[in-house]
Amino acid sequence: MNVLAYAKLNLTLDILRRREDGYHDLQMVMESISLADTLTIANGEGEVSTNLRYLPTDRRNLAQMAAAAFREATGLGGAVNIAIEKAIPVCAGLAGGSADAAAVLRAMNQLTGAGLSLEALADIGQRVGSDVPYCVLGGTALAEGRGERLTLLPPLPHCHVVVCKPPFSISTPWLFSQVKVHKIVRRPDTAGVMEALEKGDLAGVARRMYNVFEDVLEPRHMATIAAIKAVLINCGALGASMSGSGPSVFGLFASEQDAKRAYRRLLEQYQSVFLCQTVDGLV
Ligand code: ATP
Repeated sequence: MNVLAYAKLNLTLDILRRREDGYHDLQMVMESISLADTLTIANGEGEVSTNLRYLPTDRRNLAQMAAAAFREATGLGGAVNIAIEKAIPVCAGLAGGSADAAAVLRAMNQLTGAGLSLEALADIGQRVGSDVPYCVLGGTALAEGRGERLTLLPPLPHCHVVVCKPPFSISTPWLFSQVKVHKIVRRPDTAGVMEALEKGDLAGVARRMYNVFEDVLEPRHMATIAAIKAVLINCGALGASMSGSGPSVFGLFASEQDAKRAYRRLLEQYQSVFLCQTVDGLV
């Protein structure tokens, strides 16, 4: 069975508070895009392979973890071989690993005939990673808590998306350690984004997007993110933001022509640039 695992964008990322258990309460509006890994899943010996040699292929691979979590939760399904053709850049804030895990859960649900609801699959996904429940559902959703509490939102009006991953990675634990919740000055307008979604107002969503991690980056990284955003906006993006814990930056475009222009401009400077579109969820 072949399945697509779609990347996610954070249209917004806000940190509401630091909890007593050390985790942070987040509030994020998530969106699926057509940038996707392709997974081939078949009955086999439990082997995982990928086109990226540096990715783990043992139990540390999130796809492998998801297969094990499915078997443990349902008692169904034997070992499966999973071949992953990665297109989503790794450690990019695009939830590539979580998307693969979610795709495995959906595929095993079909292959075994288990017939679990998406909610039940998302519940299993939570054991694999906090972005996995969202990736099971996909589309436009509000994710709260550590990311596992989901509310479906009206779909983002269809649009063109340019994603650019600059050539560095940012440690997620380091980013969280830099955030002092009481010192956050600039936040996304999450309520405004949700109202704009209700109205089907793409420009209204795009101009209210923000990611609070952007304010705690190292100065040189902050400068790169700002430069990419400037290219996107100058080419006609309705809004631009960093996704997740970065470093990927994206812009939303109503015009395909503008999106193509931004894509070509960014390709002159960066290797990892993608021209894609929004994708609806499964529910
Ligand atoms: P997020 O947006 O959820 O923070 P990310 O896009 O920053 O995620 P990923 O690409 O999902 O990061 O994965 C980061 C880590 O997960 C890497 O250390 C990688 O080795 C490991 N990993 C395990 N399985 C996979 C997989 N199937 N695809 C990608 N990374 C995987």
